[in-house]
Amino acid sequence: MLKQLCEFCGKSMGQPDVSYRMKIELYADPAPPEFTQEDLERDVKAEMEALFAQMESADAGEAEDEVYESYLFTLCGHCRGKVHHWLRERHEHLDDLGLD
Ligand SMILES: [Zn+2]
Repeated sequence: MLKQLCEFCGKSMGQPDVSYRMKIELYADPAPPEFTQEDLERDVKAEMEALFAQMESADAGEAEDEVYESYLFTLCGHCRGKVHHWLRERHEHLDDLGLD
């Protein structure tokens, strides 16, 4: 049987270990940003032109990376537990702040 490596700690996993997959997706918020009066008074056309010029000069791959990134990790049970606790703590912290 093929052994798998935990991509966080490097542990070699085989029977009877359970391996876990963690998928991370990173992309721009599709919700439109809210405009303030100050935003509306800015020269949007000039800013858009400057942005497009910047995008054209940027490497195509680099621009794509900013739109959508996806990663898949293989974890051992120990690292899965660590990630789980970190995510839960982070979420509870945001709940406490009322930002979630
Ligand atoms: Zn691990």
